[in-house]
Amino acid sequence: MTHVVVIGAGVIGLQTAVSLLDAGYRVTIVAEHYPGDSSVEYTSMWAGAQWRTHATKEQEESKWDIESYWYWMGVIERGGQTKDDMGVEVYPSYFYWANQTPESASRSSIWFADLVRNFAFLPPTALPPNTYAGIRYDSIAINPPKYLAYLYSRARTGGATTIREKLPTDKGMVAAIEKATSIVKSVESTYNDVDIAAFINCTGLAAGTLVPDPDVYPIKGETLLVRINDVFTPTFRSDINTFDPTSHVPAIFTHVDEAIPSVTYIIPRPGTITYVLGGTKEPDNWDTASNAGTLSDIQNRCRALWPALEHADFKQVASQVGLRPGRRGGARVELEEVQLGRSDGSKEGRKLAVIHHYGHAGAGYQNSIGSARKVVGLVGEVFGKSLAEELMKRAGGGEIGSRTGLLTGMKTEDEDDAEATGRRLAEAVMKYGRV
Ligand SMILES: Cc1cc2nc3c(=O)[nH]c(=O)nc-3n(C[C@H](O)[C@H](O)[C@H](O)COP(=O)(O)OP(=O)(O)OC[C@H]3O[C@@H](n4cnc5c(N)ncnc54)[C@H](O)[C@@H]3O)c2cc1C
Repeated sequence: MTHVVVIGAGVIGLQTAVSLLDAGYRVTIVAEHYPGDSSVEYTSMWAGAQWRTHATKEQEESKWDIESYWYWMGVIERGGQTKDDMGVEVYPSYFYWANQTPESASRSSIWFADLVRNFAFLPPTALPPNTYAGIRYDSIAINPPKYLAYLYSRARTGGATTIREKLPTDKGMVAAIEKATSIVKSVESTYNDVDIAAFINCTGLAAGTLVPDPDVYPIKGETLLVRINDVFTPTFRSDINTFDPTSHVPAIFTHVDEAIPSVTYIIPRPGTITYVLGGTKEPDNWDTASNAGTLSDIQNRCRALWPALEHADFKQVASQVGLRPGRRGGARVELEEVQLGRSDGSKEGRKLAVIHHYGHAGAGYQNSIGSARKVVGLVGEVFGKSLAEELMKRAGGGEIGSRTGLLTGMKTEDEDDAEATGRRLAEAVMKYGRV
């Protein structure tokens, strides 16, 4: 069985591992941090996290976002234990622009308007103060600690070996890979050197020093996790053209003001009565401390955005700081052939495939499904596997699956559901015109 080593166990590394296992590879994960760790170097623990695409129509990330959206919608629709274990939930999402922007013009200026559920522009009667325009659509919130634990458990039950180890970051990619190779060799008794066919570099922000990649930079984000016992959560009602103040349905609220370097959001945390209040976006800020003034500003902005919060009594559960793995030029999902040294005794050393998979900035969750599928495709290309053949197999030979390449690495408990989800996905992307 082809053996692939994934470096990193954040949402990107774990999703990659699960997708590779589903595609039939043998997988070992080597990482310093795993689910449950609360290090600031482990960004995935500190995400909001919601589906709110940041991509433009032209960027590849837009396709990944839509793939993740429909994958999660499929899981939520099916409900049951898997959904609860994953910690994902669908909510009405209200998004506001403080000022006029190209996107705020009309439905036709929003590339995902026809690709998400229940999209509509909000009437002026439903806008909070100091807001130019607003939209609503069904979106998804993710509970990061639960979601990461779910992915870890899926990787383990799928057969992955997990090794906790910090690889050297100051001597370059080759040194990190050689160290990882010797660790895998010492841990896995059945190890056969030629078996490790590829490494997938999912080291997030650390890739900046490990690769090294000068385009990688931190984007500091501060948030508050609060418990709100019972609060009226307004829900938009089209019959009265404004919000119903008696509703208790939780919702996601986001407000973007281009004049300030932050974004205000309120995100319910699925499976709990807590909410994430955010937030800040500070490029190139490596400081990992919470700032009392910033936290108070976040609370004030959130109370203004969601009037029901104005007088609500909420209890702060935690203040959180995370460093998003920003990258100028966008996430890197790319194959590199790395020349190893001669430690294996060969005359010239040997070449090894490294697939870089890092730099997802503030979109690692929403990118994760589609981005990991791309990695599975690249691994398949490296080993001469026919991607089309793989897709045909996974799509049950279906025309849509083979035409779109959307089902790579996807496997759910229920094949019928998987096909239905895949078909919806395919239809969405076909409609979007990026098959
Ligand atoms: C405040 C905030 C809000 C956010 N909100 C959202 C949101 O709403 N939606 C969304 O999609 N995204 C959101 N994000 C972004 C998202 O959290 C990140 O894009 C994502 O977590 C990046 O995951 P990753 O796996 O690349 O990195 P990480 O989670 O940092 O994982 C990196 C992994 O690599 C390992 N590693 C690194 N170096 C080494 C080494 N030398 N040796 C061994 N292992 C190593 C680490 O131990 C870890 O396991 C948010 C982020 C923040 C901070």
